[in-house]
Amino acid sequence: MACQWVILDADQARWTEVLEAPAQALREGRLVAFPTETVYGLGANAFDAAAVQGIYRAKGRPSDNPLIVHLADVQEVRKVASAFPAIAQRLAARFWPGPLTLVLPARPQLPRVTLGGLQTVAVRLPSHPVAQQLLRLANVPVAAPSANRSGRPSPTTAAHVFADLGDRIDYLIDGGPCLVGVESTVLDVTVTPPVLLRPGGIPKEVLEATVGAIEVPAPLQPGEHPRAPGMKYRHYAPQAPLLLLEGPFPAVVQAAREELWLAEQAGASTGLITDRAYAAQLSATVVRILGDPGETQAAAAALFDALRAMDQAGVDRILATPWPRRGVGEAVMNRLEKAAGGHVRRVGTPAEA
Ligand code: AMP
Ligand code: MG
Repeated sequence: MACQWVILDADQARWTEVLEAPAQALREGRLVAFPTETVYGLGANAFDAAAVQGIYRAKGRPSDNPLIVHLADVQEVRKVASAFPAIAQRLAARFWPGPLTLVLPARPQLPRVTLGGLQTVAVRLPSHPVAQQLLRLANVPVAAPSANRSGRPSPTTAAHVFADLGDRIDYLIDGGPCLVGVESTVLDVTVTPPVLLRPGGIPKEVLEATVGAIEVPAPLQPGEHPRAPGMKYRHYAPQAPLLLLEGPFPAVVQAAREELWLAEQAGASTGLITDRAYAAQLSATVVRILGDPGETQAAAAALFDALRAMDQAGVDRILATPWPRRGVGEAVMNRLEKAAGGHVRRVGTPAEA
């Protein structure tokens, strides 16, 4: 079965017509992939356990990894959460719709499968106009993880979704490339102070300006369980092994040159994911420039497509240069670290200890 690939009219007034069928499919328990401002989501009615089961099956996702529930309107939070604490309301008023997911106490009516067995629910209101329109028409809360096969880079275009899931879903709504490009920030507001479970589209320091200090869990020790179950799995992984370098510019250039030279000696092709300044200093088999140095927004928007492009080019190894860990750069580095499966090499002396 191939999915129906829905292309939207430039005229927004006609979207309702086109989105009515996928919205109905959601209500009837079928799977619909749709664009959000972060990445494409694979949606199902959050209250339909069989439909949600279908998401896990299509993705090959481990069943203990809960899904984010997407809503059209803040009034719907009470349909899925049993409490909406003041701090959460403050964050919602400031950052919704947008790339912030809040973890709240779950209503017991939500199927266990949607919650991955937890007693909390992760909720967000996406700002993408197509997602909003679809959610309004569907008129049910929609559980939607990223629309990729489990372990693969998240999809930021409809073509990425089609490549991973085209034969496993009912509808694919094409809204063009996602503007943010990395997933939402996940914040647990069931505890005080709130805990950052996943860095994402809204930087921690921006959230802190609204709610004060946010706790960042210490790096996991072996055998320890993360509080966002999804963070324990290998993620965003390209086919070739990826090495992420981190350190001051000259030291990274030197280490990258050594790596590229070693690969060449071994007859291996290397893909380089980098910024314009490093690219001017290095040559590799395939080069993807995500943006100018320090342009972390551009890097976020282009990162997952670059990882997928390396798979398509069939390179033997991938080398990535660092981005500043500020703003959305924190999420970019988090995704690169995951894609590297722990292969991060710190070089040179840190600029500031
Ligand atoms: P995805 O939608 O695939 O980007 O993944 C959603 C992320 O949110 C995963 O890391 C989940 O583990 C996390 N998540 C979803 N629901 C909860 C919850 N109730 N508590 C903690 N983390 C959650
Ligand atoms: Mg995902």
